[in-house]
Amino acid sequence: MVDPAAAACGGKTVTHSIMAPEDSRHPDADLLARFVHALVDFVLPPRCLICGRWLSSSREGRLCVPCTALFAGAGSPLCPRCGALFASREGGDHLCGRCLRQRLFFDAARTLSRYEGSVRETVHRLKYRGHTMLAGPLGKLMADRGRVLLPADGCDLIVPVPLHVRRLRERGYNQSALLARSIGSRWGVRVDSVSLCKTRWTPPQTALTVSARRVNLRGAFSWRGAPLRGARVVLVDDVATSGSTMNECARVLKQAGAARVDVLTLARTQEECFR
Ligand SMILES: [Zn+2]
Ligand SMILES: [Zn+2]
Repeated sequence: MVDPAAAACGGKTVTHSIMAPEDSRHPDADLLARFVHALVDFVLPPRCLICGRWLSSSREGRLCVPCTALFAGAGSPLCPRCGALFASREGGDHLCGRCLRQRLFFDAARTLSRYEGSVRETVHRLKYRGHTMLAGPLGKLMADRGRVLLPADGCDLIVPVPLHVRRLRERGYNQSALLARSIGSRWGVRVDSVSLCKTRWTPPQTALTVSARRVNLRGAFSWRGAPLRGARVVLVDDVATSGSTMNECARVLKQAGAARVDVLTLARTQEECFR
């Protein structure tokens, strides 16, 4: 029988675990890498990309321990389906009002942190101020935390939430695509940044109610790639607000044949409707 996920990706076997691959490098290569890192650290001492604090070694990554901890703040209580974070931090996980009322097309959504304080400032730097060097380490955090947070045990394809071409030209890059690329390299999973397209320009969502956002986005995305034929997809975005964008993208991915769509975001706002 043809592996549906393999068929979705041109016949290549693309079913990957999201567990870390075994390190099969030669010991000499590791020694050389250590030497090169030590040399680079001596000439160019590494600093945290978020707060500027000196780091002891670039091998530890590009973020300091306190800044890494900022992106682990989205714990319970949350909605186990859509990942919505509740305003009150008391009590356990439970379905939110929207998951009880509305049809959702993604299977599960999870986020690393609440969209507030330094997290918000960091996302703004990545998204609006051209600090694209943040995408690599933030994507690495998403990859590492995503292994724990997402309930699925593997994925075949990573797809970023697209920007309309007009927005892409203004900004010059899609921050979600940069995060997706970093996650894909960490997981060893193919990233498709071109097949899911935003085909219709939509006004900014920020001033709209949740139901108006849903209407605003209807028919705004389309899939232009090969049929997904049962692939398990992880949809990546930087920030989730009402969840309308991820739900509409998931609807399109399911329509294209995805068997499962999970959503992974860097941060999530606390919408009034989820309280
Ligand atoms: Zn820092
Ligand atoms: Zn929910």
